[in-house]
Amino acid sequence: MDKNIHNIVVLGGGESGTGAAILAKDKGYSVLLSDCGQLAPKYRDMLIENSISFEHGMPHTEKDVLAADLIIKSPGIPLTAPIILKAKEKGIPIISEIEFAGRFTDAKMVCITGSNGKTTTTTLLHHILRHAGMDASMAGNVGDSLALQVSRDPHEIYVVELSSFQLDNMYDFRADVAILLNITPDHLDRYEHRMDLYADSKLRITRNQTADDCFIYWQEDPVSMETIARTGIGAERLPFGVEQTEQSAAWLEGDRMHIRTPQADWSMPRADISIKGLHNLYNSMAAAIAATRLGVKPEFIREALSNFKAVEHRLEHVADIDGVQYINDSKATNVASTFYALESMTRPTVLILGGTDKGNDYTDILDFMKQKVHTVVAMGLDNKKIVSFCKEHGFPVHDTHTLEDALAACRAAARPGDTVLLSPCCASFDLFKSYIDRGNRFKAAVKSFIH
Ligand code: ADP
Repeated sequence: MDKNIHNIVVLGGGESGTGAAILAKDKGYSVLLSDCGQLAPKYRDMLIENSISFEHGMPHTEKDVLAADLIIKSPGIPLTAPIILKAKEKGIPIISEIEFAGRFTDAKMVCITGSNGKTTTTTLLHHILRHAGMDASMAGNVGDSLALQVSRDPHEIYVVELSSFQLDNMYDFRADVAILLNITPDHLDRYEHRMDLYADSKLRITRNQTADDCFIYWQEDPVSMETIARTGIGAERLPFGVEQTEQSAAWLEGDRMHIRTPQADWSMPRADISIKGLHNLYNSMAAAIAATRLGVKPEFIREALSNFKAVEHRLEHVADIDGVQYINDSKATNVASTFYALESMTRPTVLILGGTDKGNDYTDILDFMKQKVHTVVAMGLDNKKIVSFCKEHGFPVHDTHTLEDALAACRAAARPGDTVLLSPCCASFDLFKSYIDRGNRFKAAVKSFIH
């Protein structure tokens, strides 16, 4: 770290901000944490226990923030927030928690980004590495912050889930292994509604990589490929996809998944992979390439891929009741994730859609809806767009505004042998606290039907 840095201000006091403040304090800096909202009791207590100064539930005290030598910004604060613009104008460096933590560790960094599949792939790769006996830990959007772990609970390898917001303020950080799963429209409101800016932000995951590092990406994703072509990559390339090309590090041949890196060349039956659907095949390919590249023996990877349990709220099987299967995919908050959820459906489906629409284009899922969905249940405060889309394309649709009414409509529509799928395509904030709340309440309501 730069010797001229003494005062650090952390903006935002969630998991990452609190972790960054603790690491900064442990390293001897003078630290102030400032959050305009109320801090959760857990984080307030952590700051008090560590004697870290903080302010919350009030506007940032501008003079204190602008006295910083370095600002660590939580990913939730937009780059256009007035305090950030003022700090920039004053020339104060603004970095992310991951960037800051990366300056205090030599551990191996395996970083995962993409519009969809980050948590699944992070959790899966972590599971594989732990299964092989490695000292690996998860960080980023899952588990404890990287900064807190670097300071208090260090590990040899971190599997780090990175959103584009986290990547935006990373500069010197270097990923030993970088994974880009896919790029589809999401969060465009934070990127001037420009797909190229959002895509560039994702590609920051390859920044500072050298020929000793590797970059794993989906070679059949046109947006990723176009962005890669204009970015220039310094790392070894290990692409994956269904079709084999000269460069492929993972591909499908008949019913077997093949993996080939300089370390090993192996395959396994696709049917042995525990998480289902084409999207999960891609996630499994990415994780298997990374593990192989890190030297894990194929037999450990095969075992771990076959005994991995799906992450909660992602195509999670809830119950079978009266011959109807209920699946919770509450984390599907955009069109691409519902697209893959439908792709993996093998039975006639009653689909619950709805919530806070992020400018969705439902025609992207129309083909799968025609093949698999016989009834749509719209669940949201304002269902106009979904209802008119369904009517236009001839789908029976129920317009509901509570979870209870939505489930009653599903039960009336579902026949034995059907699946009821909650994969709403939308954010949850109109009726629920979060996608987790939506998924938990869905599961509890479904389970209450079991007699
Ligand atoms: P993220 O952390 O990127 O939001 P998750 O693993 O939590 O991703 O999955 C979010 C949603 O996207 C889930 O509904 C899941 O079924 C779907 N999904 C998972 N992997 C992929 C993928 N590779 N491509 C498209 N959709 C995916």
